[in-house]
Formats: sequence, C-alpha cells, structure tokens
Amino acid sequence: MLPLLPELGINSPFVKKTSSVAVIGAGLAGLSCAQALRAAGVEVRIFESAPFVGGRCATRLWQGHLVDHGVQYFTAQSPEFKKELLTRLRQFRPIISPILDSENKLVTSPNGPRFYVLQGNNYLAHVFSHGLDIRLNTPVESISFRPTEIECLGENYGAVVSALPGPQTMRLFGLAQAPVEYDSCLVALFEYSGSGIGKSSECYARLAAPNNAVFLSSHCENHKAGRIIGNKTVFIVQATPAFSQQHLDAPPEKYLPLLAMENEELWRIPSNHRTATYGHRWDYARSLPQSRSRTDPPRGAFLCGDSRTDSTVEEVWHDGRKAADEVLAYLAELNG
Ligand SMILES: Cc1cc2nc3c(=O)[nH]c(=O)nc-3n(C[C@H](O)[C@H](O)[C@H](O)COP(=O)(O)OP(=O)(O)OC[C@H]3O[C@@H](n4cnc5c(N)ncnc54)[C@H](O)[C@@H]3O)c2cc1C
Repeated sequence: MLPLLPELGINSPFVKKTSSVAVIGAGLAGLSCAQALRAAGVEVRIFESAPFVGGRCATRLWQGHLVDHGVQYFTAQSPEFKKELLTRLRQFRPIISPILDSENKLVTSPNGPRFYVLQGNNYLAHVFSHGLDIRLNTPVESISFRPTEIECLGENYGAVVSALPGPQTMRLFGLAQAPVEYDSCLVALFEYSGSGIGKSSECYARLAAPNNAVFLSSHCENHKAGRIIGNKTVFIVQATPAFSQQHLDAPPEKYLPLLAMENEELWRIPSNHRTATYGHRWDYARSLPQSRSRTDPPRGAFLCGDSRTDSTVEEVWHDGRKAADEVLAYLAELNG
C-alpha cells in the first residue's frame, strides 16, 4: 500500500510538484516580487484584502483634489529602480521645492531627488500591477503548511510570500515574534480657501521640532503640479507615533482640531480659511529598525517589504525582487 501523502519526501515520484507561488499583499513589495517571479516564468497569484492595489502607496480623490495620504514622495537612486520607472511609468516628476526643519534649515535627501507621480502616487502600484493575477477583496488569514505544498484559500502552492507588515506576517506564518515592530500614524488632510496661503509658497514641507508631541511633518500638496483644483491649498499632516497611538481609536473629529491648530500655527494660516478636514489611520506605518529580530519562517514561506527592510518605496521594491530570487532558488531545489 502507498504511504499517505504527508509521509512522502519531497523527492518522491508520487508527489505532484507544485511550483506556483502565492503572494499575500499587493503593496509595492508584493507587486515587485510577483513581477519578478512572473518574468522568470513562474505562475504567481496575489491575494489582496483591499479593493485596490498599492497599500501604503495611497492616493485619495478628496474635495476634487488628488491627495497622497500615504507615500508623499519617492527616490530613485539605484539604476535598477530608475530603469523600472522609466520603462513602466513616464509621468513622474521631481518635487523642486525644499523641505525645511523647525529652524528653517534645508532638509536634504541623502538618496537624491524626491519624485511624485502626476496621477497620484498610487498610480505607481497600478502600473506595477499590469499583467499580474490579483485577487482583490481577498484577505488571507491563515495558511496550511504541508511537507511539499502550502495551502492558501483551498489552493496549493509551492511557496508563499508574505508582503504584509511584520506583525501581520507573524500571525500568518505562526511565528513566535514579529520580524519587526511598527509605528502607527494618524494622517490629517486640511483644505483652505485661497491658493499659496500663509507661508505655503516658501517650501513643500515643514518638519516639526523633534520635541513636538503632536505632529511630525506637514506637506503642502500644491507643490505637486496638477493635484489641487480651484483656489485652494491642501496640507497633509502626519501625527507623531505617541499622538497617533493615543488617538488611534478616537473618531477623527476628536484629533483633527488639535492637528489643525498645529498646522495653522506652522504655516501662519488663519483658521477661518479652513474649508475641509479628513483623517486617516495607518495601523502599521513604518517599521522600527531597532526592533528587528531574527525569524525563521516555515519551509516554503518567505517575507518581503518593510518587515525586513527600510520603510521606503525604493527599498521595498528592491526587497520584492530579492524575495523573488530566494523563491526561485527554493523552487529549483524543490523541483530538482
Ligand atoms: C503616512 C505614511 C507616509 C509615508 N511616506 C513615505 C514617503 O514619503 N516615501 C517613502 O518612500 N515611503 C513612505 N512611507 C513608507 C511606505 O509607504 C512603505 O514603506 C511602503 O509603501 C510599504 O510597502 P509594502 O508593500 O511593504 O507594504 P504595504 O504597502 O503595507 O502593502 C501590504 C498590502 O497587504 C494588504 N493586506 C493586509 N492584510 C492582508 C491580508 N490579511 N490578506 C491580504 N492582503 C492583506 C494591504 O491591504 C496592503 O495592500 C510612508 C508610510 C506612511 C504610512
């Protein structure tokens, strides 16, 4: 009698070898990983819980404006990423205006110019998703690991990649601890009547003093051409991790007035010019490098994105490709 399937070794001729890959999460890391796998001829399917791709590379049509409420800008320092942008996406532009700190000093970008996408930064994810098999509105909460296959939502895969933030990867893979912890971040959008209002024409963004308990930075979206319609000025304010944590479960009307007050003081704007507000909550905003710990995912399971690299667009894109190389090496070994 033939032994039962789980008792077979991976080199057994009775085992059907599966080489398709499931990627969990259609943020930039997951999309980059899936594109690299697809380019290598691997069958790959992405599962995404949201009704859209991009994750934290998010753009919102708000009050008729296109507003980036996640990634503000990205760099393109490496030749590979630059080439990818030039090949797939032509409509990205540098942000010329400076970022100033609380003492009005220039905040230089160590990784070169800051870029944005004309159609909204989320369009970057849209472009990276071309040709991929993506199941939207499909959260993956658990995975079954078998000796030669991995079951995900009733289908079998040779390997699975989690492109989710660290704590979510921990739950998905049943790890003892998260590969890294994250800050949460409340983001506020403020619209004011009048364009170039207050000191907003002086710079693209201002950083708060390091001891500011309420907010980290305020970016003026008017410095991205074509984004803001009519005679308006729009700001995106990021709250500090402590403030965000404190107000994470509060309704936006509780914390928006506090952030609005700080914003108006920062840019010297009279509060009676404010015409609209909006609050967004990021539970997992940026990974905290100092909290990184070594984790050993189960056999056939891989991670990518800022659960193991820095929280920047360029870094997570590279890490998606790195994860694809690791998966390819594993599949080659699995399939002899
Ligand atoms: C407010 C803010 C501002 C930022 N500004 C910048 C910036 O200016 N420049 C920069 O370079 N970086 C910035 N970052 C960091 C950058 O956004 C991230 O590093 C990067 O987008 C992470 O990409 P990712 O693919 O690793 O993760 P994510 O974008 O988080 O992708 C994970 C995906 O998984 C999906 N998902 C979650 N749970 C499940 C599940 N159970 N099943 C299936 N799918 C699931 C999510 O919906 C999401 O689409 C910012 C981040 C925040 C929050």
